[in-house]
Amino acid sequence: MGSARRLEYLQAIGVDVWVRRNAPVCAVRVAAAPPPPIGPEVEAQWQGLRAEVLGCTKCVLHSTRTQGVFGVGNRRADWLIIGEAPGAEEDRQGEPFVGRAGKLLNAMLLSLGLPRDQVFIANVLKSRPPANRDPRPDEVAACLPYLMRQIALLKPKLMLAVGRIAAQNLLATDVSLGRLRGQVHTFGELNTPLIVTYHPAYLLRTPADKRKAWEDLKFARSVFRRLDTQEA
Ligand code: URA
Repeated sequence: MGSARRLEYLQAIGVDVWVRRNAPVCAVRVAAAPPPPIGPEVEAQWQGLRAEVLGCTKCVLHSTRTQGVFGVGNRRADWLIIGEAPGAEEDRQGEPFVGRAGKLLNAMLLSLGLPRDQVFIANVLKSRPPANRDPRPDEVAACLPYLMRQIALLKPKLMLAVGRIAAQNLLATDVSLGRLRGQVHTFGELNTPLIVTYHPAYLLRTPADKRKAWEDLKFARSVFRRLDTQEA
């Protein structure tokens, strides 16, 4: 992506950038070479998992949701973005991050050179909690295995947890989001690097923290690039 375009996205997420006059235009390489296509067996596992999520009745949220929200994106993605739970618009459309917070998330990803369809986006909870209340522990316990199975199928190179609920549940901690930022955590048996940043809905309410979120995104990009060079 050209630097002019990136500047546009940064402005869209509310980050002011000072650019040296005559600064060189440099291309950002975030995505690695395309991985091999998904085989029919893995494809069938994705389909099966999706059907389970859409028909799930493991917690009370199934009785108030419009539909389950499985997740969206590229099933060969290197980046997995994980949010909290569907909101009203997501519940209506059956897709994560399609409301106002989703638009900001898209701009945040684009500022890194990552279009939404190049990453995979999922939530800890697949059903909307009424009035967007915080997920309850029994709901998380019922739903987290679906996310674990998504992670096992996707095998992302990097996970980005957006917001306190996603970060704390994935890392099984009650440490504050502020203290979880700026570090490379690891997740699961594959020790997948996991970075924590603010939830876009929080950033809409607290635009002063957008600059810190941009620092987190640059940090995630640098971690990803390091991995990518190690592999090359
Ligand atoms: N907030 C989330 O955490 N996830 C969504 O899908 C939408 C809003």
